[in-house]
Amino acid sequence: MKTRFPEIGMTVRKHYKCACGRWVTRSKRFYQTINPYNVTASGFMKDQYQILAECRQEAAAWTRKKDPCTHSAHAVKEIR
Ligand SMILES: [Zn+2]
Repeated sequence: MKTRFPEIGMTVRKHYKCACGRWVTRSKRFYQTINPYNVTASGFMKDQYQILAECRQEAAAWTRKKDPCTHSAHAVKEIR
């Protein structure tokens, strides 16, 4: 029998100007499941509020971060 654990999380988007000058839009889902093995540093099972708080932190860090340019050298040449 397969046990499914509830997934708690959120999908966030970011929109920024790449180093090459292009606009980049990305979205990513941050989530964790509520399960007996997902515990805090003090050993208690995480509840949905704890998971949401952690996901929000991770999402905020990801949103602030610009990813390295993935546009091809050709694309960079084109816009310059
Ligand atoms: Zn780029």
